[in-house]
Amino acid sequence: MSTTAETQSDPTLAALLKAIIADPADDLARMAYADRCDEAGDRARAEFIRVQLKIAALEREGLGWPFCAKCGRAAGWYDYTPRCYGEVCRLRMREYYSSRRFINWGWRAGVPQSIAVTYGRGFVSEVSGHLDLLLEYLPAAVRLHPVERAGAVDREPVRDTHDWNWCEEHGLPRAARLPHAVFVALQGGTRGKDYRIQGTNVPLRRYHWYGSRKAALDALSDALLRLARAA
Ligand SMILES: [Zn+2]
Repeated sequence: MSTTAETQSDPTLAALLKAIIADPADDLARMAYADRCDEAGDRARAEFIRVQLKIAALEREGLGWPFCAKCGRAAGWYDYTPRCYGEVCRLRMREYYSSRRFINWGWRAGVPQSIAVTYGRGFVSEVSGHLDLLLEYLPAAVRLHPVERAGAVDREPVRDTHDWNWCEEHGLPRAARLPHAVFVALQGGTRGKDYRIQGTNVPLRRYHWYGSRKAALDALSDALLRLARAA
């Protein structure tokens, strides 16, 4: 049985991880990583990657997922019917047991406990935490994990009549304020422009708005990941 330290120093695993980070959509590199973990004796880690790839494939297909055909439960992460041998419950049970073993091995290098992680297709796929912590730790996290989503739990776009707004530093409720570097990294949506009405300056330059809450949150996630990768 090898240790995490051994597998981390395995050049084959290091190369495969690099390929996975470069192209998070590629399942083949993840399968190769699982095979290599098996060869190195990391059976739980191999199992976890394979079972999550299978779950992701079922999620893509839809077809009754996530309801177990045998017991009817909508099974999820850490949630399934014990001793049910329906396919969905069995997959979620395998995911649960393999994840418990591999998470104990500390397979979240570079991500402190104060940041929550979600595993997708066998690897850290989402991180969420306070914005200050994300700004500090995301650069390390994106070098070590194929992170596809970053959520700032203390940030929420503010809604006006038609739009969901982020603003730079001032104005709006605190939760909608972003530091300058993050604000200027926002893409999509609309950046405001300052203009004058009847001699009064209307400063909209510090606002960036989107057509939906989801679009605003997606844009923040993308901006944070872009900044982290460029760091
Ligand atoms: Zn079931």
